[in-house]
Amino acid sequence: LRANMSIIQRETGFVNGLIAVLHDITEQEKLDEERREFVSNVSHELRTPLTTMRSYLEALSEGAIDDKELGPRFLGVTRNETERMIRLVNDLLDLSKMDSRNYEINPVWVDFVKFFNHIIDRFEMTKERQVTFRRLLPNHTIYVEIDEDKLTQVIDNIISNAMKYSPEGGQVTFRIQEFHGEIEVSISDQGIGIPKDNIEKVFERFYRVDRARTRQLGGTGLGLAIAKEMIGAHGGKIWARSLEGKGTTILFTLPYDPLQEDDWL
Ligand code: ADP
Repeated sequence: LRANMSIIQRETGFVNGLIAVLHDITEQEKLDEERREFVSNVSHELRTPLTTMRSYLEALSEGAIDDKELGPRFLGVTRNETERMIRLVNDLLDLSKMDSRNYEINPVWVDFVKFFNHIIDRFEMTKERQVTFRRLLPNHTIYVEIDEDKLTQVIDNIISNAMKYSPEGGQVTFRIQEFHGEIEVSISDQGIGIPKDNIEKVFERFYRVDRARTRQLGGTGLGLAIAKEMIGAHGGKIWARSLEGKGTTILFTLPYDPLQEDDWL
């Protein structure tokens, strides 16, 4: 709290009033602090791949390029790092769009069960690891108003995480439940889990439980922060449940009105 004081003084010199203006600066300071931290995080995240690339490029120009084994391997590293930087910058652009005042989503009516099944199918077709999928989905339509591109991005990110952190032979469970006024969508894995104290932090920008490890897995630390913004823009909530060593469930809700669905159909 900051106070601005003005003394009201008469020409005669007598003080006959005092005006105190109190400003709540804590909120503003918090925002400034967050912004500084954000810029510092972004710089750090960009510097890491850049310095890695510099060392590999140096090694290449000092002769590694002529080595049959090292040449392609080092080029592969620089390419991976470039791709990670592109992902990072794209994520940052997404977040900056969402931070702007006139951020809008383009919702259309979609049968969420069909929409969700399509995304799961795509992962099932292309998965490289031994992970089994279990779908606990209603066998009737559930029409909700969503921005398909944005929600595809959200769900892609959650499923990619579930796959990344799953053990070989693990199971990923997809579920949709209907509640009063909303549906609850959940994706559960049997992976490493998230320590109890970090469960809410994973939705913060750049937060990663294990920096080195997730960087190796190609993450930017922005996926769930973007998901939170996008679900919020749809009028829903997103949260996590997890037991370390046992698994993680990411859940989100979307507004749903079965009566409106009847009108509409
Ligand atoms: P990243 O790009 O690092 O995956 P996210 O925002 O998607 O960023 O996730 C933030 C962090 O939350 C991850 O780095 C990881 O530590 C943790 N996390 C997310 N999903 C899972 C999961 N299914 N199992 C375990 N940890 C997870």
